[in-house]
Amino acid sequence: HAKSAGGNRYQFYSESLNRNAIRRLEVETLIREGLRNDLFEVYYQPKIKLSTGKIIGMEALVRLNHPEHGVIPPNDFIPLAEENGLIIDIGELVLKKACFATQQWRIQGLFNGRVAVNLSSKQFALPDLQQRIASILHLTQLPAINLELEITEGTVIHDPETAINVMQQLNKMGINLALDDFGTGYSSLSYLKRFPIHSLKIDKAFIDDIDKSDKDLKMVDSIITMAHNMELTVVAEGVEHSSQLNILKALKCEYIQGYIYDKPMPMKQYTQRLKEESPHITQNNVINNTYT
Ligand code: C2E
Ligand code: MG
Ligand code: MG
Ligand code: MG
Repeated sequence: HAKSAGGNRYQFYSESLNRNAIRRLEVETLIREGLRNDLFEVYYQPKIKLSTGKIIGMEALVRLNHPEHGVIPPNDFIPLAEENGLIIDIGELVLKKACFATQQWRIQGLFNGRVAVNLSSKQFALPDLQQRIASILHLTQLPAINLELEITEGTVIHDPETAINVMQQLNKMGINLALDDFGTGYSSLSYLKRFPIHSLKIDKAFIDDIDKSDKDLKMVDSIITMAHNMELTVVAEGVEHSSQLNILKALKCEYIQGYIYDKPMPMKQYTQRLKEESPHITQNNVINNTYT
């Protein structure tokens, strides 16, 4: 009857709460272990220029490479790390590793474009953000113009005035900014106009069905047109099929990131990828694969 049903429901609720709490604790322990034992590994996924099929940049994407649990994807630990603040240490580590790797590729004459690093809202809100970034650039010797930071709408929408200020400071350092996951957040077009960003990344959710749904195609078409009117470059995320690729070409999308070209890969493998793409490049050659 009603009472026992209610009792069961309570028990179920409390069990799942417990399980959730235990899971969170486990993940937090893994993150701390990862930071202590240097288990975080940065993978790199090329950004491809559609008109040439060549690499123009890449995104740094973190994984927790655990000796027993294997490679743990960011969606399993980033949300919790954002809550408990550990994202600040993870983010700093990723930035260091990504800047170091990119400087190595520059020195080897393999790459002179931008590496894009995701910046969480917690990092963005740090009062000494610029100094922290400047010291990592100094440490790794990577020029600021070879760095791009990806932020989401959620990061900038709560306090747009302060956000614009921070973004301008980063711009002054020479760092490019990209608005990530565009379309999934709050998308206030009036703010978008005022944000000093350089490119817009259209979320995979909008790209998934552009080859099947006329509505999705029209939406992406409008986003690209709007972005171009605002002098922003556009990156389509999560492109997997040639039918999507052809549509994006027709819509004049400049850059894509997706499994159709490459999955994110560890530094060593990415170095190989860069070597295969530019066998003719020597240390003395000037590379013009930056954004134009
Ligand atoms: P994101 O920044 O939007 O990164 C793009 C995600 O799409 C990556 O997932 C990438 O592997 C995935 N992706 C790219 N092309 C395809 C495709 O064709 N098909 C499919 N199915 N997926 C594709 P990943 O690496 O699992 O990262 C997930 C999210 O975790 C990122 O989304 C970002 O929000 C967060 N993240 C990753 N690394 C960092 C980091 O260092 N710092 C912070 N704050 N967040 C990070
Ligand atoms: Mg990103
Ligand atoms: Mg994204
Ligand atoms: Mg995403």
